[in-house]
Amino acid sequence: MSDNLLQKPKLNEARKRTKNQTEQVIYAIPEDAYQLGDGLKYMIQTYGCQGNEADSEKMRGLLESVGFTQTLVEEDADFIILNTCAIRANAENKVFGELGRLKHLKVAKPTLILAVGGCMPQEEVVIEKILKTYHQVDIVFGTHNLHRLIEFLIPAIKTHQKVIAVESVEGDIVESVPTIHENQFKAWVNIMYGCDEFCTYCIVPYTRGKERSRKPESIIEEVKDLIQKGYQEITLLGQNVNSYGLDFENNPYRFANLLDDLSNLDIPRIRFTTSHPKDFGDDLIAVLAKGHHLLPFIHLPVQSGSNKILKAMNRKYTKEHYLELIRKIKIAIPGVSITTDIIVGFPGETEEDFLETLDLVRQCDFEGAYTFIFSPRTGTPAALYFDDLPKEAKKQRLYQLNDLINEGFAKGNHRFVGTVQKVLVDGRSKTKQTVLTGYTEHNKLVNFKGDETLIGKIIDVKIIDARTWSLVGEIIDE
Ligand code: SF4
Repeated sequence: MSDNLLQKPKLNEARKRTKNQTEQVIYAIPEDAYQLGDGLKYMIQTYGCQGNEADSEKMRGLLESVGFTQTLVEEDADFIILNTCAIRANAENKVFGELGRLKHLKVAKPTLILAVGGCMPQEEVVIEKILKTYHQVDIVFGTHNLHRLIEFLIPAIKTHQKVIAVESVEGDIVESVPTIHENQFKAWVNIMYGCDEFCTYCIVPYTRGKERSRKPESIIEEVKDLIQKGYQEITLLGQNVNSYGLDFENNPYRFANLLDDLSNLDIPRIRFTTSHPKDFGDDLIAVLAKGHHLLPFIHLPVQSGSNKILKAMNRKYTKEHYLELIRKIKIAIPGVSITTDIIVGFPGETEEDFLETLDLVRQCDFEGAYTFIFSPRTGTPAALYFDDLPKEAKKQRLYQLNDLINEGFAKGNHRFVGTVQKVLVDGRSKTKQTVLTGYTEHNKLVNFKGDETLIGKIIDVKIIDARTWSLVGEIIDE
């Protein structure tokens, strides 16, 4: 392997933050690559969050810009990418299992190119493991250089060289990367990259680099283009969207300004994720209260209800601050639906701490939550914290929490029975061909009978019944 194709990440460097303003550059296809993929097929497997889904759409765009076509049949693929997630050990184990499974394909078809991209390669331990054990992998790239995917493919295709290219530090913001959206009427829109929060359990600030905000003009242009193409809903993406713009020099434009500007455009639905409670200011609440195209649904991760644990997590807010924030949001946006993320079994979490979390859940009336058992990530401070709580006790806490969360989920669904809701029709139900599915403005899943010409449209649906996880409706305006 030649040296210039072996670039490994370093967590120590990834941890550093500089004041340097991030440059914005325009993507260009490498000149010698225009027909690189002619006659070749690719397949992408995406793991993890919406950020990764958005990245996979860019990978699709890049590959198809040089002639590749997509296949969903593994045996037909000439190029397979696993776009990976590093947030929990479970997610990583799945990827390693998948790499083991794909080995037989490589043996049957030696020209197959196998790539690992996304968050996992940003970890030193992962790169070492791939180099030592998974020799079937041809290309490894990270989150900071996915726009260079075509460059990495050139030596892999032309001279069968291995390419390990993972940068530790984020580079420029690259605009105009070709993108193919999976969905024809709902799109992800990145508004910023990276995270500067350094919650002690989280690997993301190391894998995604420092916070960099895209220019408002670039985001607005992208959204206008989506409107022209007929998109009905956008979801603005960032690890902490509330800190959008904090990295701008001499420019007070922030997330509230961006939401305000976007809601004046003709896009019927605007969602966003993820918010951090410490940065959720009154200016933002005031803009959300205007409604218009901003939907009455907020995902606001709390992680714990214990101040001691919140401090150990470096979350930078208290239970009292969070409860007050929820109170203000509910007053400003009547009927808003709020969901959250919670970790149980964080090192040092006592029964009293856990009861504080249950108490917070009861007070907030969450209508859903992603709940997890703490998963130590090598390189993060919390991975070194003393943790003597047995796995079984953690599981019991998770079950107890989930019972409470499910009650809130069902309650949040039942409140809509008898009302008429605007539903963006997603497609046919996977289990019943005569049934359509879609989401309300409050992000509730609704099943109802209807014709497939309605897919991609926003229609009125009367809610006639509620289950724990979904609503049942009937169309009143076809
Ligand atoms: S805000 Fe905290 S949990 Fe979220 S990505 Fe940043 S470090 Fe991770």
